[in-house]
Amino acid sequence: MRLQIVGSSGTYPAPGRPCAGYLIEQKGFPVLCDAGPGTFMSLPIDPDTIQAVVISHQHVDHCADLFAAFHAWTYRPEPREGVPVYAPESAIEHILAFVDGGQGDAIHRTLDFRPVSGGDEVEIGPFTVRFADMFHPVPCVGSRWEADGRVLFYTGDTGPGGEWHETARDADLMLAEAAFQEPPASGDAIHLTAAEAGRIARRLGVKRLVLTHIPPYMDASRSVHEAETAFDRPVALAVPGVGFDV
Ligand SMILES: [Zn+2]
Repeated sequence: MRLQIVGSSGTYPAPGRPCAGYLIEQKGFPVLCDAGPGTFMSLPIDPDTIQAVVISHQHVDHCADLFAAFHAWTYRPEPREGVPVYAPESAIEHILAFVDGGQGDAIHRTLDFRPVSGGDEVEIGPFTVRFADMFHPVPCVGSRWEADGRVLFYTGDTGPGGEWHETARDADLMLAEAAFQEPPASGDAIHLTAAEAGRIARRLGVKRLVLTHIPPYMDASRSVHEAETAFDRPVALAVPGVGFDV
């Protein structure tokens, strides 16, 4: 299994740094997981070869470029049809609400929306993907990708709370958001600190940890250092163009 980072910027994109977007590929079957702003233009492969899309949640920094993909696949002489899109029901509703009536028909021809929530397990080509409900202000799914005995877990957006941890257990690689460095002064956190990502990964027996969703204004080297201290092992940073063999 190969994980290719298309974009990893937290919250908003910056030049050369699209928001969340990851290609997960096995045996020539690439799936786009999240489609944040800037990712479509940065795809390292022909977008027509993408076999399916998974959207973790409705926040714009994770799904805006699904519209770019929809347009690219629809408004041309030979449109694509029926590209599977797995996402929480509320994300599907928000995506559909953004396009007008006429386009609504088109979007259902091009994209085959399949709602998922925590506990669901689906076969996507060579992958068995199990979803977990993450801790975020809107429904958000984390995803556990298994193929050929290897496991990748992607957190989407989440705070440390909730029931999702076990779905990440013993992952060969955990791609974890680390949008915070300090936890919020009050209230339940809706993102992880880098140190929390490291602590959780260590407790769950995760073998490799990759940090993502770090906003452009933050010193990412500090996040990596704090995660490494908690994980007690080297931690990698998700950088566009970098790939990981899982
Ligand atoms: Zn979010």
